[in-house]
Formats: sequence, C-alpha cells, structure tokens
Amino acid sequence: MFQQLAARLQEAIDRLRGRGRITEEDLKGTLREIRRALIEADVNLEVARAFVEEVRERALGRKVLESLTPAEVVLATVYEALKEALGGEPKHPQLKDRNVWFLVGLQGSGKTTTAAKLALYYKGKGRRPLLVAADTQRPAAREQLRVLGEKVGVPVLEVQDGESPESIRRRVEERARLEVRDLVLVDTAGRLQIDERLMEELVRLKAALRPDEVLLVLDAMTGQEALSVAQAFDERVGVTGLVLTKLDGDARGGAALSARRVTGKPIYFAGVSERPEGLEPFYPDRLAGRILG
Ligand code: GDP
Repeated sequence: MFQQLAARLQEAIDRLRGRGRITEEDLKGTLREIRRALIEADVNLEVARAFVEEVRERALGRKVLESLTPAEVVLATVYEALKEALGGEPKHPQLKDRNVWFLVGLQGSGKTTTAAKLALYYKGKGRRPLLVAADTQRPAAREQLRVLGEKVGVPVLEVQDGESPESIRRRVEERARLEVRDLVLVDTAGRLQIDERLMEELVRLKAALRPDEVLLVLDAMTGQEALSVAQAFDERVGVTGLVLTKLDGDARGGAALSARRVTGKPIYFAGVSERPEGLEPFYPDRLAGRILG
C-alpha cells in the first residue's frame, strides 16, 4: 500500500540515522523531502504543508535538535501526523434498530461492489440487510447488484424503470417490515461524471427515504480528483462518511491522506480486494504504521 510514498518517507527519515545531534538545517532538509514525497503521492498541497508544519512543531517540542536519536523522534512525529491526517481515532457508522444507508459515488468507483461487501460484513455481525438496486435508468446496474446479492446471500429489491421516489420508499418499507430487515443499503445511481440530473434524482430519493448515513464511495486510485467529486456530492446530498476503494491497487496515497482534511468526513471503510470479503473498517493507526514499515 502506498509503496512509493512509504519508501520516500523512510528514506528521508533514515538519512538522519546514526548522525548523533542534528542541526536546524538537517531538520529543514528532512522536512523538505517529506513534503516532496507527499506531493508526489498526490497529497493536496495545503494538506502537505500543514502536515510538514505539524511534524516540525512536534519534533521541536520533543527537542529533536538535542536528541541523540533524532531519526526516532522524527519517525514518531511522522507517525502521529500520518495517523491524524488519516482521521485519528477510527470512526464507525452509528447503527440503530433500523437503518437506511445510501451509497453514492461515480460509476466505476466501486459503489455496487461496496454495497454487497457492506451487506456481507453486517450480515456477519448479526444484522439483516436488504440491498436496494436504485438506479431507475440502468437495468445493467440493477442486474449487477442482483448477482452480487445472490453471491453474498442477501435479498435485493430492484426499482423499476422510471419508478418514483415515493413508490420506492413504499416498497422498501414494506419489504423491510415483512422480512424484518434492519439495515437497508441503497445502491444509488452512478454516472461517469457529476451530472445535474443525477444529483436531482439523488436529492429526491434522499428526501423520500431519509437515510441515516450517506456513504460516498471514492476510488483511491483517482487521487485528488476524488476529492472534488466528494465536495460536489457533499454540497448536493450531504455526505456523512467515506469508503475508499481499491487500496489494494497501486494508489499513491494522496486521496487517503487528503480526504479527511479536505472533506471533513471520516473514512469508515477501505476496499482491499474485488471480492465480497474485501472490505475492512478503516484504522488510521494501522495504516500509518504500515506506511512507515
Ligand atoms: P460502480 O460502478 O461504482 O458500482 O463500481 P463497481 O462496483 O462496478 O466496481 C468497479 C470495478 O472496481 C469492478 O471491477 C470491481 O470489481 C472493482 N472494485 C471495487 N472495489 C474494489 C476494491 O476495493 N479493490 C479492487 N481491486 N477492485 C475493486
């Protein structure tokens, strides 16, 4: 995960090893390298700047210039700053007796796969999920969820072409009541880019179904671009949390490291494979630890 970033950060810190005392110039040089590594990993400029400033302050606070093991001090402060940037303490969506969650995102982000993964994950925790294939225009999208639902053993309610939000709400409520389903996962329509009609449809569906969580699914491979998508969705439909997919691929890390600060939303889950089991709660400390080896 984030191999290049990991290697560059470790290199920058290793240069301080075995040096005894370091000077202010040495620290500056290391911080400059860390900043460059972050920017090359496609971390947002402002986030990279704030990150380096935080490392500098923490390192000076720990008297790095007087320390006999400056590399260890810098390593510890980079770890803390990484953990903070990734969201600090892990956050999980709140579960109630009955829950309706939306999954929103661009086509190809991994939204449908994530809906099925969440269904499997929470089924394993004793919940009774119902998947809703809510794209009123693309039968292929509904078909995809139906197949995935079968695979994970969770029923799928499919909307009809052009079905109104009100009718969807009625059918979802009835089905959830009859089958005693306590976690309704709505796979909303995705498009290749932000599109006004799509947003309007989402706003109307949200008004009808009144979800407890709106989870935005972001492809970590798309880097900074993912974050402008996040802002657009948040402005229109109000996002409550993020799922970062394809962290198993060769994503550079920029989206993951910038997402929390740029969007202000917690990252709840990470997608780590194509398979239905490939979903993990997002743990900032573990990921920070992995990046630093
Ligand atoms: P949607 O259009 O947003 O619903 O996206 P899909 O769920 O169809 O996913 C698009 C592609 O990404 C599919 O080939 C998925 O198998 C793949 N995919 C989704 N999540 C992950 C992930 O976490 N890791 C990997 N490697 N592939 C993923």
